[in-house]
Amino acid sequence: MAKHIEYEIQYLKGVGPRRAEVFAEEGIKTFNDLAVYFPRTYIDRSSMSSIAALAKILKNDNEENLRNVKFNEISFKKEYSILGKVINKKLTEINRFKKILNIIISDGSGVNCKIVFFNRADYFDKAVEIGNYLVVSGYPENDKFFEVNFVHPELEIIDESEQELYQKGAILPKYKLPDGFVKAGINQRLLRKIFRDLISSKKIILDETLPESLLQELKLPGVEECCQILHFPDNFQILEAARYRIKFEESLLFQLSLISLRKIQEITETGLIIEKNTENVKRFYKNLPFQLTQGQINALKDIFADFASGKPMNRLLQGDVGSGKTIVSMIAILAVVDMGYQVAFMAPTELLAEQHLHTFEKFFEGYNINIVQLVGGQKKKLRDEVKVSIVSGEAQIICGTHALFQSDINFNKLGFVIIDEQHRFGVSQRAELIAMAKKSHFTADIMPHSLVMSATPIPRTLTMTAYGDLDVTVIKERPKNRKAILTKVVYEQNRDKVNDYIKSEINSGRQCYFVYPLVEKSEKMELKAATEYYEELKEGIFRDYRVGLLHGQMLWYEKEVAMREFLDKNFDILIATTVIEVGIDIPNATIMVIEEADRFGLAQLHQLRGRVGRGEHQSTCFLFTKNHFQYHMKSAKIDLQDRKAAIIRLKAMEETTDGFKISEIDLKLRGPGDVLGTRQAGMPHFKYIDLITDADIISFGRKIAQNLLKDDPKLNKVENIPLKRAVKAYINSGKEFFGIA
Ligand code: ADP
Ligand code: MG
Repeated sequence: MAKHIEYEIQYLKGVGPRRAEVFAEEGIKTFNDLAVYFPRTYIDRSSMSSIAALAKILKNDNEENLRNVKFNEISFKKEYSILGKVINKKLTEINRFKKILNIIISDGSGVNCKIVFFNRADYFDKAVEIGNYLVVSGYPENDKFFEVNFVHPELEIIDESEQELYQKGAILPKYKLPDGFVKAGINQRLLRKIFRDLISSKKIILDETLPESLLQELKLPGVEECCQILHFPDNFQILEAARYRIKFEESLLFQLSLISLRKIQEITETGLIIEKNTENVKRFYKNLPFQLTQGQINALKDIFADFASGKPMNRLLQGDVGSGKTIVSMIAILAVVDMGYQVAFMAPTELLAEQHLHTFEKFFEGYNINIVQLVGGQKKKLRDEVKVSIVSGEAQIICGTHALFQSDINFNKLGFVIIDEQHRFGVSQRAELIAMAKKSHFTADIMPHSLVMSATPIPRTLTMTAYGDLDVTVIKERPKNRKAILTKVVYEQNRDKVNDYIKSEINSGRQCYFVYPLVEKSEKMELKAATEYYEELKEGIFRDYRVGLLHGQMLWYEKEVAMREFLDKNFDILIATTVIEVGIDIPNATIMVIEEADRFGLAQLHQLRGRVGRGEHQSTCFLFTKNHFQYHMKSAKIDLQDRKAAIIRLKAMEETTDGFKISEIDLKLRGPGDVLGTRQAGMPHFKYIDLITDADIISFGRKIAQNLLKDDPKLNKVENIPLKRAVKAYINSGKEFFGIA
């Protein structure tokens, strides 16, 4: 690589030694570092809403209208900017400690907007003067008096000359301003000036990572041109092309990293060959009480293809609740056991591990297979016995929780690891699992097959990122005998009708779940709430019925007893907290009542609902909300965005049972970190890619990465060398995500 002269930024006009230190805190030391500090967003006259246009958007987006919004039009927490002149301001003293500042802005579009500061009102009162031009950015709302209303927005006062530029149609870049910048007097205006000097200095040399042929094929701007455009775009078309390039590049580097890391693994690892039609597998197929769905058949095809490949399987099996993943895994398990290897089945909770144990015992009855259980709550003596049977190889299927992978457990011939209902299982956790499995294995370079099963449908973008190193199989359909679940949002005033319906269903032999939200923070309080609620129903409206209770504070075997009783129809009604969320399978239960449903997350509601609709009977899910909620609840305590989100969640539940659709909506509402439940290590930190809006770029990057590696597996061709270097650096900067310490 050609060595560049690296210019230090303190020599740029407007920077100097003191501010250079502030920049250094953000990792910016040289001209080249600074050059790639790209704007966060842009403001221009054409794309920026006039206040009148914004008022219209907000009107369509308000709570009353949300009922009619199409899901693909949901624009949640979208940032808007406006530019206008301050025509009035007023500082009001509420009391000795509290002041409110209102600023009124006009942009000549016919509608004025109001800005409110409850905090630092004095400060902003001094900073903003009547006649100033302001760029206001934030999340506007509409209220009774002002159609457009920003609370605590980001403000930028722009000067006369920039105002002129802007009037002529210039696009103004806006940079991220860390606190340190603000304190050192580095504002947007200064940054724009610094960048002007930087670009015109001609002292930036950026390395091109993308091969020339790719740039031409995809018509992407080269790196230096791209840099210039991003700081000073002439028009939006050019800007879009430049933004596309940096996102695409990021996507490509990410996918190349994932794929090449996996390739390295594959080269060094051998997978066990597992045959397809072993004796017991054939027998199992013959005795199956139902026909497999096409999705289940396809999943088995994928799995057995992996088993035959000589490479270890690394597969994610996604399928909505009730799509029948367990049966699929059982067929694979039988084949592995028949080949003489052990199978570890890991469930997220002891309750589920227990349930799987029973399912296996039931389905494998008469197969002469030794199934053991390993969970955290076991007595030491029992645990020791189980440990011995695992290390001796006597135990063939080991069903348990993460206790399976504790350091004192040694497998004899582990051939297959299944991780059930685990949507928090990113690349780094998998690396951990592999390390543990390896350690426990009879031959160091043989890697057990692994199958991760998840009933939490994950949007495609997230699958390609968080699980980008896994092969993916999706079971789309549900078994044929299932009827769609009816879902209804109900208000307190209709409680009696619902209760009557529940009674009539129970009278015809069905069972019902009541789920109570975890309202209280303290576990004791929560227990009290659930217990009180249980007493109330049991002694009150359902006194003629048999009512059971299941909550998180019970010991695992107590939970198991409660579930058993419900399964054996000794209870008509089960009052539960969210412990029944995952995996529980009781086909006779057809009613799910969720109390205070507006408090639950969308994925959680969907999971809970999945507990019903598992047999041939029609099932119903009632989502109770308070009377005042009525799809446009107004409560001063709940923030508007949260109210909207609650409305959208309930509406989504009523409108669809498609888990993938639900997960897409959930992604928009909560963002990727919360959807996956892995804010830190589970997600890559993308600088430019937005996981919500850039699905196409992510999948395109994956495709190009695959093509590149097909053509040049080690990226050793001359034109790919810079790219290879960039991939190495990328992996290095994301060690935590990639699970390499
Ligand atoms: P999940 O994918 O949620 O783990 P399960 O494997 O627990 O689903 O299956 C749910 C229920 O459906 C189980 O009782 C199972 O025996 C049953 N089942 C699985 N596959 C079929 C099928 N093809 N036809 C009918 N019922 C099935
Ligand atoms: Mg399951």
